Amino acid sequence: IEELAELDELTGAYNRRCIMRMLDDALLRARDDAMPLTIALIDLDWFKRINDLYGHPTGDEVLRTFAITIFANIREVDRFGRYGGEEFLLVLPGTTQDGGYPILERLREIVAALDWSAFSEGMAVTMSVGIATLDDDETPEALLARADDALYEAKAHGRNRVVQARPACGDAL
Ligand code: C2E
Ligand code: C2E
Repeated sequence: IEELAELDELTGAYNRRCIMRMLDDALLRARDDAMPLTIALIDLDWFKRINDLYGHPTGDEVLRTFAITIFANIREVDRFGRYGGEEFLLVLPGTTQDGGYPILERLREIVAALDWSAFSEGMAVTMSVGIATLDDDETPEALLARADDALYEAKAHGRNRVVQARPACGDAL
């Protein structure tokens, strides 16, 4: 029962409440242990169009396959949850700013290379990603907001890409 309350029914990823709690815990632990923490907001590109073109049951299958693929390609210490709709949150404890990009780029390439046409002729699925690494004194909300801004940039610059967030305090000129 405990497990069911923590999982998103459709994808098997952690649900929003649970992944947010995990983010809070990971943040506290990172501070206690003076370790880095990187998060990634992942959004499936053109998902509404996939639903419209291929139907909701296929859209659900796409979400499920996407989640299974991510799970198969991250470590057990990493936390992956459904943040809402077609948006997911990946929490990478111990991962530095430089370490996050290649991990998400690897995942992006794996998702883009899947044979999505097995679902429906001509179908392609890609993801856009915003990543942010915890700064001193930053709240989970502020960290998420920076990742969200980076995700917005990834979308604005053509999708199917990973964008690193700006530093929390901004650079003095
Ligand atoms: P795991 O640590 O839970 O990782 C699960 C999957 O995430 C891996 O499956 C791989 O697809 C991906 N992954 C995790 N870390 C990395 C990484 O640093 N680089 C890359 N390119 N992919 C990564 P895979 O490869 O089938 O490995 C299954 C399990 O075997 C891993 O589970 C881990 O327990 C172990 N393993 C595989 N290679 C190594 C290794 O070089 N060192 C150690 N310590 N364990 C390894
Ligand atoms: P790599 O794939 O270039 O990964 C470089 C570093 O990125 C890893 O260093 C690790 O610190 C981080 N990293 C990569 N993928 C993940 C991930 O899914 N989750 C997390 N939390 N961290 C990740 P590390 O551990 O020293 O591994 C060095 C190299 O050993 C990796 O280079 C990869 O070539 C290999 N390796 C290690 N574990 C695995 C594994 O489970 N599967 C595969 N296929 N290769 C692995």
